[in-house]
Amino acid sequence: MKFCSRCGSILTIDREKQALVCPKCGTEEMIEKDVIYSKHGAEKDKVVIIGKKELNLRTTPQVKIKCPMCGNSMAYWWMVQTRGIDESSTQFYRCTKCDYTWREYS
Ligand SMILES: [Zn+2]
Ligand SMILES: [Zn+2]
Repeated sequence: MKFCSRCGSILTIDREKQALVCPKCGTEEMIEKDVIYSKHGAEKDKVVIIGKKELNLRTTPQVKIKCPMCGNSMAYWWMVQTRGIDESSTQFYRCTKCDYTWREYS
């Protein structure tokens, strides 16, 4: 929650403007683009969240795998090549039901 720097009112999010707007005095503040964390919020669970725009779910293959969050048995999956010492690729899954995203190392 953020407060207006001018009058101290609670700022509301204006999705069209992509800004925080004060309903009292009209002050606009830019939304800080923070790193998006997974639902767990912990640093170790930091997962690349791919927006629906970037990830075309219609062409993304589905696989039968159990969602750890809701128990659904179908998920979209895609691979991300990680440029590390081990040159391993990471497999990402996104639940078709609850949109929970998790990863597995191959
Ligand atoms: Zn204000
Ligand atoms: Zn799920």
